[in-house]
Amino acid sequence: MEENEEKRWNFWGMGKLNPQSKTSIRGLLMKIWGSVNKDDPRPLLPLGHGDPSPFPCFRTTPIAEDAVVDALRSAKFNSYPPTSGLQPARSAIADYLSRDLPYTLSPDDVFLTIGCIQAIEVTLRALARPDANVLLPRPCFPFYDSFASSINLEVRYFDLNPEKGWEVDIESVEALTDENTVAMVIINPGNPCGSVYTRQHLKEIAEAARKLGILVVTDEVYHHLTFGPNPFVPMGVFGSIVPVITLGSISKRWLVPGWRLGWLVISDPNGILRKSGIVECITDCLNMTSDPPTFIQGAVPQILEKTGEDFFSKTINILREVAHICYERIQEIPCITCPNKPEGSMFVMVKLNLSLLEDINDDLDFCLKLAKEESVVVLPGVAVGMKNWLRITFAVEPSALEDGFGRMKAFCERHAKKQ
Ligand SMILES: *Cc1c(COP(=O)(O)O)cnc(C)c1O
Repeated sequence: MEENEEKRWNFWGMGKLNPQSKTSIRGLLMKIWGSVNKDDPRPLLPLGHGDPSPFPCFRTTPIAEDAVVDALRSAKFNSYPPTSGLQPARSAIADYLSRDLPYTLSPDDVFLTIGCIQAIEVTLRALARPDANVLLPRPCFPFYDSFASSINLEVRYFDLNPEKGWEVDIESVEALTDENTVAMVIINPGNPCGSVYTRQHLKEIAEAARKLGILVVTDEVYHHLTFGPNPFVPMGVFGSIVPVITLGSISKRWLVPGWRLGWLVISDPNGILRKSGIVECITDCLNMTSDPPTFIQGAVPQILEKTGEDFFSKTINILREVAHICYERIQEIPCITCPNKPEGSMFVMVKLNLSLLEDINDDLDFCLKLAKEESVVVLPGVAVGMKNWLRITFAVEPSALEDGFGRMKAFCERHAKKQ
């Protein structure tokens, strides 16, 4: 290649790796899966990702399946949908979410998205402007960081406190905020922490954000998936203290992440966001992107209105059982500690004590060797911003979880430092 030509490609970022390219959960898990020994006759145990739907005990309700079949068969949902979503679906989501709020959402406050992922994309795009920054929790679901860097939106991290139920360290939020800070993100129930915030803590966050003049983006994709002492409280409850953008989907509560149906909701009874023009930015972003499939949108009213408590409580009971097994088994393995018993979502964070292990360099090394020797896949903490921690998924069949912890224990004993 001519020197000039090479320079030109370098200019376009093709001559080298993009310095801003980030580790993604999927990318890291692929790497870890790659080190599994193909000759191991035992089943591979996936405790790294967050999709329990392949396990028989986490099958969705027939009510949701029937709703999709009915919508499909009706031949009413074969067209392109409107940009913000079908009106009956927006209306059903507004009603569904208003059940937990002290005010009523209007269908116009609801925008349908391709899963919660697209709700994150649209929110960050709508907030982005030159010099703006957003505050993210550490640890965090890494998609926020990757997407923000892809649109050159600066991110700053505030700490979550593992000794206090992974609550937001409000002082670190205050220290990070400047005149270019537009929003802070919270994830409740938490991924990767399995935390569930109290009403009181959510109120403190709302009051701090109000004082700082920033809005709160709340990722509630695990809404109502709680099985500890704290019930789920939506951040939108405090929408009259500070404007809130609520992100969610049916992926986790209905165990159907492949259906790709999510929402972005303006939880702002004082109408501050509408006046500020953000809602227009959101509509503009949605105009430029694709939509969730029309027949899934067509099924939404039936899914939300007809699913009974029995389905939800069955899921919660299994999650409570597996979270408990997980917590108990962690206690039996000296080199990992869990600062906070999981109370929601499908994950727990554990701290790795490398000084008890002989030939393990860091969390990634731990995960690669564990996969190779025991065919167990867990996520290294680096993926969520916490080096030398691990994120373990407990949303699997209880027997698979027991098996996984048995193997992890054997692995840790084999690699333990000899006294
Ligand atoms: C799974 C997950 C998402 C993505 O949800 P989809 O509805 O599958 O797009 C977003 N945020 C968090 C914290 C998640 O765990």
